[in-house]
Amino acid sequence: MRPRADLNRLLPTERQQRSYTIRFLIGAGNCLAALLALEFAVFIGISPHPSGVHALALCGFLVELTFFVLLRSGLNHRFADPSLTEYQINAAIVFIGVGYWLVTPLGKSIPLVLLIVVLMFGMFSTTPRQLGRCCVWAMAVMSTSFFLVARTAPAAIITTQQWFHVALLMMVLPTVYALAYQLALIRARLRERKEELKAALQRIETLATIDVLTGLLNRREMHNVLDRQEKMASRTDQGFCVCMIDIDFFKKVNDVYGHNMGDEVLRVFASTARSALRETDVISRWGGEEFLVMMMDTDVALARSVIERVRSDMDAVAVPTPNGQPLKVTFSAGLARYRQGEPMDRVIERADRALYRAKSAGRNQTVLDHVETVS
Ligand code: GH3
Ligand code: MG
Ligand code: MG
Repeated sequence: MRPRADLNRLLPTERQQRSYTIRFLIGAGNCLAALLALEFAVFIGISPHPSGVHALALCGFLVELTFFVLLRSGLNHRFADPSLTEYQINAAIVFIGVGYWLVTPLGKSIPLVLLIVVLMFGMFSTTPRQLGRCCVWAMAVMSTSFFLVARTAPAAIITTQQWFHVALLMMVLPTVYALAYQLALIRARLRERKEELKAALQRIETLATIDVLTGLLNRREMHNVLDRQEKMASRTDQGFCVCMIDIDFFKKVNDVYGHNMGDEVLRVFASTARSALRETDVISRWGGEEFLVMMMDTDVALARSVIERVRSDMDAVAVPTPNGQPLKVTFSAGLARYRQGEPMDRVIERADRALYRAKSAGRNQTVLDHVETVS
């Protein structure tokens, strides 16, 4: 069996849940190692409370097992914070507090170091509010532990040590909280930057694929559309048509009314064509006053009727001009159907040739490439 499959049995496969579980396993590994160290202290005879250590080790194991079951079964999603980090930290703090009480005076600084490690762990995976609550919890648990130690073994040396430990915690806990707060600010700023980057990327993507004047796809993106369509056509045997459209006497519009009016004509044509075409048809601005339409799963007869619908819609449109004279805009179109195995450039060239013939035949009409026959 492959090791990856074994890992998938132990860890959830969903990305977020897997990361929660991995984080838990790191924490649980540390916790169990500390409990084993306590058991070792009992084994070599330097722990004053063997039965307390055994009870703590058993509790620790059961609590960690419970966390694992919650994460592995998905029950963690019933909690406000499904990572369960705050609960894990608080459980670890309790083990540390009890451990502090159980170890000999010589070993009492070890739980304090572990406490700092646990809180550091929390700095990267909790909100400042959660970590603040953990710090308060740590203060409460450790105060109880200090009190129990002072009550059960009130020797002078221990009391002095206790005061040092209290002072240490007084210093460390607010520092941990302040650092966590700073870290949360950095994380929030990073998140913000990520969102800004995402939006910028989206803008760039739009600019790279859309023609700014008409809002239609640009030539580059149309090439991608045609490539995809060609692949699909060769796989599914589904034919498609391309139609090259060119506005008639467009130069005259520019010459008579100016470039802005020419731009307006392009916009009007684009929006009229877009709404006359079907959902599945794709229209692009191929360049200047030329447009290329791709009609999927369409034979030439149907394609021609679709283009004629654009023509009759354009016929009903009059572009207002500065001199009050409404402007009528016509176009010529050349139509070709993709043939299996034919290079895309060749299909476009055939549509272009048909367009040329439409122009020669007097404009304002749709002409099929001469190899096409309408059934
Ligand atoms: P035909 O009927 O034979 O197609 O004649 P035409 O005048 O439409 O064609 P021609 O190729 O002679 O002129 C096209 C003009 O389109 C020339 C160019 O200045 C203009 N043009 C190209 N791009 C734009 C644009 O983005 N805006 C404007 N306003 N004019 C443009
Ligand atoms: Mg032209
Ligand atoms: Mg033209």
